[in-house]
Amino acid sequence: MPALGIVISNGTYRRTPRSATTTVPTHEFDIAIIGGGPAGLTAALYAGRNRERAVLLEGKAPGGQLLNTELIEDYPGFLSILGGELATVMEEQAAHFGTQLVRTEVKAVKMLPGGMKLVETYDGDYLAPAVIITAGGNPRKLGVPGEEEFAGRGVSYCAVCDGAFFKDVHLAVAGGGDAAVEEALFLTRYASKVTIIHRRKEFRAQPILLDEARKHPKIEFMVDTIIESIDGGEKVNHLSLRNLDTERRSVLDVGGIFIFIGFIPNTQLVDAHIDHDKAGYYKTDPMTMMTNIPGIFAAGDVRSQLTRQITTAVGDATTATIAASKWIEDWRRGHDDTPPELVEATLHGAV
Ligand SMILES: Cc1cc2nc3c(=O)[nH]c(=O)nc-3n(C[C@H](O)[C@H](O)[C@H](O)COP(=O)(O)OP(=O)(O)OC[C@H]3O[C@@H](n4cnc5c(N)ncnc54)[C@H](O)[C@@H]3O)c2cc1C
Repeated sequence: MPALGIVISNGTYRRTPRSATTTVPTHEFDIAIIGGGPAGLTAALYAGRNRERAVLLEGKAPGGQLLNTELIEDYPGFLSILGGELATVMEEQAAHFGTQLVRTEVKAVKMLPGGMKLVETYDGDYLAPAVIITAGGNPRKLGVPGEEEFAGRGVSYCAVCDGAFFKDVHLAVAGGGDAAVEEALFLTRYASKVTIIHRRKEFRAQPILLDEARKHPKIEFMVDTIIESIDGGEKVNHLSLRNLDTERRSVLDVGGIFIFIGFIPNTQLVDAHIDHDKAGYYKTDPMTMMTNIPGIFAAGDVRSQLTRQITTAVGDATTATIAASKWIEDWRRGHDDTPPELVEATLHGAV
């Protein structure tokens, strides 16, 4: 790796020797991938195999949400596999084709004149014309006793992923938005009964969904009710509840609880100038996964889309990496479609 540095002044940049006092240590690549979950590891695999000089920057351990997942039954090629095992083989395969995997947290991404991007981390900076953001996100937590302890043992945040593990079981769903009601309806395919527990009387969910749920013979509602704790032995077997109107406490016997009170995408590091939807997810071109910023792509759970699964993350990342390679070729031929006002805006802060 050549020892490079960069100086940014008056909207221009140039490389300088690392020893220069005004410089920041910088490594240069073709593609910088931010995040090492299924999307990031797939991007790393494709970039390495396509002979791009690529780096994957992951703040924690590679694997992303796979590391919070027990058993996976919906990833093609495996009848079932543990999340940790899938993370390990994906990481090995990503590294096998030459992409550098670096453990460091990204602080910000800045646009430079000419189409280059500067990716700032706590351990130095990275330069690349193409950046693929695969920073994922996290389900919002209830924050009650038992939630962490029983994660994967009756506490779930994904009906499509885990519903099939709960055949003929009474389930609870926490939440009052579209996601909670939609997922409760989905869970009726498996569960003997689904109780939707909501802290208010009013629901944010669309009336049409609520009507469907209210008419469903397997669904019942508990409103004005909060979950004080999630309890059980080996697995969840009941919830301790409190009615906010009457202050009455009760116990609900359930075999599992699905929590849908929101999902927080990790979009803060490159936020203001990337178009996003109401919930904060990056909007991307469906053909290329490119955001509104030329050369910045997004894949997986950070992206605005219908569903968030391992398979969709992997698919997005495949498209994003192939599109990034093509974009770089164009860019090398001298085609730079970066709006100057974006460069101006981002030189003084995160994109
Ligand atoms: C409990 C649970 C169970 C699930 N079960 C299933 C299942 O059975 N089947 C299924 O298909 N899907 C399942 N999902 C969904 C699936 O895990 C996600 O859709 C998938 O992991 C998304 O992949 P991703 O790479 O986009 O994001 P993530 O997996 O979230 O990975 C993002 C990565 O980016 C890193 N990162 C974030 N910010 C930075 C930064 N600033 N700098 C560097 N790195 C950063 C994070 O540390 C993380 O490793 C489950 C999700 C959860 C929460």
